[in-house]
Amino acid sequence: MKRLLSGNEAVARGAWTAGAVVGSGYPGTPSTEIMEIFARYPGVYAEWAPNEKVALDVAIGAAYAGRRAFATMKHVGLNVAADSLFYAAMTGIEAGLVIVSADDPSMHSSQNEQDNRQYAKFVRIPCIDPADSQEAHDFAIAAFDLSERFDTPVLLRLTTRVCHTSTPVEVSEQRFVSSDPIKYPRNVAKYVMVPANARRRHGVIEHRIQEISQYAETSPLNRMEIRSSQLGIITGGIAYQYAREVFPEASILKLGLVYPLPAALIRNFASMVERLIVLEELDPFIEHQVRLLGVELYRGKQTLDTPKGIFPIVGELNAQIVRKAAIEAGLIEGEMLQTSPSFPMELPQRPPVLCPGCPHRGAFFVLSKLKVPVNGDIGCYTLGLTEPLNAIHTCGCMGASIGVAHGAAVAGDQERHVAVIGDSTFFHTGIPALINVVYNRSNVITIIMDNRVTGMTGHQDNPGTGKTLQGRDTTEIDIENVVRALGFTYVKTLNGYDVEGIEKTLKEWMKISDPAVLITREECALLPEARAKYVPLEVVEEKCNGCTMCFRVGCPAISKSEKLDPRYQRPLAVIDPSLCTGCEICAQVCPRDAILFRNQVLDKQEIDQ
Ligand code: SF4
Ligand code: SF4
Ligand code: SF4
Repeated sequence: MKRLLSGNEAVARGAWTAGAVVGSGYPGTPSTEIMEIFARYPGVYAEWAPNEKVALDVAIGAAYAGRRAFATMKHVGLNVAADSLFYAAMTGIEAGLVIVSADDPSMHSSQNEQDNRQYAKFVRIPCIDPADSQEAHDFAIAAFDLSERFDTPVLLRLTTRVCHTSTPVEVSEQRFVSSDPIKYPRNVAKYVMVPANARRRHGVIEHRIQEISQYAETSPLNRMEIRSSQLGIITGGIAYQYAREVFPEASILKLGLVYPLPAALIRNFASMVERLIVLEELDPFIEHQVRLLGVELYRGKQTLDTPKGIFPIVGELNAQIVRKAAIEAGLIEGEMLQTSPSFPMELPQRPPVLCPGCPHRGAFFVLSKLKVPVNGDIGCYTLGLTEPLNAIHTCGCMGASIGVAHGAAVAGDQERHVAVIGDSTFFHTGIPALINVVYNRSNVITIIMDNRVTGMTGHQDNPGTGKTLQGRDTTEIDIENVVRALGFTYVKTLNGYDVEGIEKTLKEWMKISDPAVLITREECALLPEARAKYVPLEVVEEKCNGCTMCFRVGCPAISKSEKLDPRYQRPLAVIDPSLCTGCEICAQVCPRDAILFRNQVLDKQEIDQ
């Protein structure tokens, strides 16, 4: 039966068909939908873990217990999970274990651009790289089989374009019958990685990867498409689609199993073509391995030994980029053809911004006023860096804010450092960093912006929401209780919209030298519960003098009107009722009480009726 599925939907379907019964992940674009969709299949357990390492440990435990399991994450998540990836590669498993890494070439929503095929080589596990949704589905099934056949975790590496593009997929209604849990293994030599055992296992995994490379020679995951002998292309993943589009006559060796590579197959293919190139996105991962085999690659008109042959090493490829590089290298002739729609006009730039009514805005407005160094984290609250708030000065990765602030403080920076982190990020990797602050006694003030959900990735539940991924009611972890239990004495929870309270508290804490934690708690303005409470506010023109204070909160719902204040000729403020939620932040900062509060608006509406 054929279905139109995105790559992410196809992986979820493939995992279910393969009999996976446990899935654990941490949301992160472009991987998020995989676990959300898997959670809806019957007979499975799926969860959001607090971070990717925990997710992988959960999947490893299930696979040790004899049940097919997988963990999902975006590419940077594999950095968090790397410790677990390495030990799982050493121990092997009892039932299939697949790690799905969704890479983000061109960093559509990421802080870096990394090619996680490299992890497979580093760790010595197979890496499978699908080119479309059908392959995402089929390769997910193959990954579990390969995992069990060779007693190894398998890395299923996706990229944004495969994750989010929908193509028809032939699916089966039959599900692989997963075996019952086995008696948990008591094989200490295999599963307990003390040095004596680990030394033996290292030899085992080196031997294993040799065996898998033998398998790769005839694996159905790799295939040759023989056409013209003038040009041969070795490719894999989404780059295969560009190869077919730009070089329709070329012969192709399409690698689904991109690590380990099939040396004899590559040599055989090379002998069949006059010119051989490698076409791949990001790192020269296949290219370097092919060159190490002594196989000569066509290098175009290059005179310098560049790190990558003909195609760019940075950013996502598309057919236009591939065609341009091919023309420059003398591989094909012709003008640049337009392959994607072009727009005659320059479209206006639309920088990301906190939504109207965002509960993080109040704290950022105060931080901006206080002019303290603010160390940010990954999430909606990263947007506190934009104009006019300009309230974030560093931002590295999930959970980094608190450690960076602590580092600056213990290095002797005399300014009072603030760290900002979200609720989900607090559970992800914020807690150990906060322990470090209280244990090593820096004076960092941490603000945990608790919007009651994992916001930026699309409103997933987390340990603070009281719901699991599969919708069960569960223990709601109270952030303030956790922080107090860590040993902080200065801890306070305020409403995220309480601008005055936030300012007063931070100013008080600036005078003490202890570490402190402020939790600003208010649900994300886009949640249905919040939407139900929207009351657009109004500006009383007669009171407004265009002082600009309300513009400084950076809410997209407030703008300058055409009308001018008669005395200073400054534009008056106007609120767009279709955008305003009535969060009252602007009303609180207006020095002339020119913005009506919610109750005033409701009273006025009652009178008007
Ligand atoms: S999604 Fe929610 S938390 Fe994120 S910026 Fe918008 S309102 Fe704020
Ligand atoms: S803060 Fe008040 S007075 Fe100033 S521009 Fe805004 S509405 Fe007008
Ligand atoms: S009340 Fe003010 S700050 Fe809040 S959404 Fe409306 S215009 Fe924006």
